[in-house]
Amino acid sequence: MNLPGAQPTRQHHAGDAPTGRSLDPHRQRYAQRAAGMRASEVRALFAVASRPEVVSLAGGMPNLAALPLDALAEDVARLVAAEGQTVLQYGSAQGLPALREQICEVMSLEGISAHPDDVVVTVGSQMALDMVTRVFCDPGDVVLAEAPSYVGALSTFSAYQAEVVHVGMDDEGLVPEALRQVLGALSAQGRRVKFLYTIPNFHNPAGVTLAERRRAEVLEICARHDVLVVEDNPYGLLGFGDQTHPALRSTEPDNVVYLGSFSKTFASGLRVGWALAPHAVREKLVLAAESATLCPPAFTQAVVSRFLARHDWRGQVKQFRAAYRERRDAMVSALEQHLPAGCRWTRPDGGFYVWLTVPEGVDTRAMLPRAVTERVAYVPGAAFYADGLGSRQMRLSYCYPTPERIQEGVRRLAAVLEGELDV
Ligand code: PMP
Repeated sequence: MNLPGAQPTRQHHAGDAPTGRSLDPHRQRYAQRAAGMRASEVRALFAVASRPEVVSLAGGMPNLAALPLDALAEDVARLVAAEGQTVLQYGSAQGLPALREQICEVMSLEGISAHPDDVVVTVGSQMALDMVTRVFCDPGDVVLAEAPSYVGALSTFSAYQAEVVHVGMDDEGLVPEALRQVLGALSAQGRRVKFLYTIPNFHNPAGVTLAERRRAEVLEICARHDVLVVEDNPYGLLGFGDQTHPALRSTEPDNVVYLGSFSKTFASGLRVGWALAPHAVREKLVLAAESATLCPPAFTQAVVSRFLARHDWRGQVKQFRAAYRERRDAMVSALEQHLPAGCRWTRPDGGFYVWLTVPEGVDTRAMLPRAVTERVAYVPGAAFYADGLGSRQMRLSYCYPTPERIQEGVRRLAAVLEGELDV
């Protein structure tokens, strides 16, 4: 069974649908790739969804309420006083050596054994996604991504004019048989697949996790087809059970580029993430990073490094998990209580998101303005596909609002859905 919305896919040509061209006096000047750069649906939503009367189940903003802000403020002041000459200066393109060592320690929680030399610090894992795509993809190259997939990655692939081919998922994540079939079909067409982009843990937007027994199979299929794996794992430490899943990178160091982030385990505003790559790829990523930013900000790296060294960061992650778990429970119980018959949803064991499928006849994109009028926002499912599927799906985030607001938001959403089904 495929995850709802993940039916067989049409292929997507990244550069073919710009809008509003006639209004732009610079239109003749843009590079072709600018046609693939589109406003994200999520970004457009932020403006309406951030109005206080709207319960936003749309954005994936981490909940920072558990952070010890006073202690952090003191720490930052001390950092500037004691090390200002260094931390306010340019730094290494690859990132602060001390932080790269600490990142290896963080990754060891997922079974990864890595050398700090193979870590490249980035401005959030979003920058790492950009670098990886820039380094590997020519226009028209194929990238595989789960159906559905992270909207920010789809935008990056589109910006580099890569063609996204989706691979089906079910409640246990990416389906190995679907991967085998897609790769077989592409190879029969003589198409070159550059990498599989996958989010194995607490998927954005699907909320599912790749079953452990599938992990070796996915790696083996990719290795057999000579396809690199890009493992995007910002939520890996935010599981609600006791167990942390072993990273794909832990078993296949030579064919996996692993992307990590402190956005969800510390603070997204610091914009500190990283890539761990096979040695040769690491070289290319450093060059790509250098041309984009010279070096990642020394200051925010130092803040993260100090936090890891001086605070109980494992305890902090536990607090985040508890907060998200409480919110997941609030959302799932509200869905059970309020949603009309015929709706289905995933039940995440970690992370931020629930993937909801609504009854036939409801189009979640068309319904959104009515939902916002009723003071609740979500992200329509189509945003997470490169090929226009997902019209009966939506992503609901429980990370940011309080449990009470989540319950109220779901109640409002249910009323809007009932209204749609009545007509
Ligand atoms: N990958 C996934 C799957 C995400 O959900 C996000 C943030 N929403 C990112 C990457 C980017 O995160 P950041 O740049 O903040 O590290």
